[in-house]
Parts: sequence; structure tokens; C-alpha cells
Amino acid sequence: MEDKLKLMEQIKTEVLNLQKSPLYKYRIESNYYPVIGEGNYDAKVVFIGEASGKKEAQTGQPFCGASGKMLDSLFESVGIKREDVYITNIVKDRPKNNRDPSPKEIKIYSPFLERQIDIIQPKIIATLGRFSMEYIMCKFGLENELEPIGKSHGKSYEANCSYGKVKIVPLYHPAVALYNGGMRGILLEDFKTLKYI
Ligand code: URA
Repeated sequence: MEDKLKLMEQIKTEVLNLQKSPLYKYRIESNYYPVIGEGNYDAKVVFIGEASGKKEAQTGQPFCGASGKMLDSLFESVGIKREDVYITNIVKDRPKNNRDPSPKEIKIYSPFLERQIDIIQPKIIATLGRFSMEYIMCKFGLENELEPIGKSHGKSYEANCSYGKVKIVPLYHPAVALYNGGMRGILLEDFKTLKYI
């Protein structure tokens, strides 16, 4: 556990000093924090979002704004406690105006995510949204099974990784339910998948 703490601290230090990132200057000018991730370093389940929104960048905490409230209600529906899981994003800094993360940003930040996964060694990786789904499925050799999220959401895919087997569960990003009430029902159903695998 102490080793995990040290390895995670090292990641934090590197991200804090990531001057080569196109988002670094914006972070400093805006007095934002990078959002490294939060939760249990021995978690069975890791949730991966896209990039921080304004509230997250102001606090350094993942999913603490409106999408985070939605995520909390989804956790509650299946009895998941935040402190038992680990929550992070692919891109650790906030893109301006909440735009989608660019391929260049994903390339710069994804090695940190990969190290976080190797440290935690989760049995389940639940992706939140299209970007993390595409990234994680390709990273774990599931590129041939990639489908639009409208088809793959709530399914479970098995993959081999450096520390054994892992299940990948693509989920819609919780923000979709903020703009489209009907999506909450779908997310609630999909979260049930996490209970039974
Ligand atoms: N959306 C994300 O993808 N991640 C966050 O941390 C917050 C909102």
C-alpha cells in the first residue's frame, strides 16, 4: 500500500509539472488544479471519465460537479461507495470551455492513466463516455470489438493485461443524463452490470 502511495504521488508530481501539455498554461493562468484521481488504490473497480470540468479543476477532485452528482446517484443505486472504487479521467487537466479532449491531449496524458491502472490492478474498468471507451478498448486489444457506444454500453468485455484478466464495461458518460432525462434509466440499468460481474 505504501508503495502504491509513493507511485501515485510520483504521478501527481509529474502531472503538476507537465509543461509540455497544451493545457498546462491554461491551468496555471486559471489557478486550476490537475485532477489526478481519487479513491481506493486497491479498488476492484476503476471508473474513467474524460477530462475535468470547471468545478473539478477548481478543486482537484474528479466528478464533483453536476456530472459527479449524477454519478453519485448511480453509485448509490447499486450500493457502490466512492471510497471503495477509484475514479479518474484520461486527460488530467481541463480543456477550455469543456470541449472534447483532443487526440494530442489523450496521447500526452494517457501514460499516466496506464500507470494508475497498473498500480491499482482493478478487476473491472468502467469507462464513462466515448473517449475513455475507445482508448481503453484499444489499449486492451479489443479494437475489433469496438462499436458505437449506443451499442456497447452496459456490455462486459474480457481482456488480458499485464496482471491477469480484466473486464471492461463501457458506460455512457453521466453528463448525458443531465441533458436527457431518459438516459438516466439506461445508465441505471447499465450500472447493474457492475453488480453481477
Ligand atoms: N466529466 C469527466 O469526464 N470527468 C470529470 O472529472 C468531471 C466531468
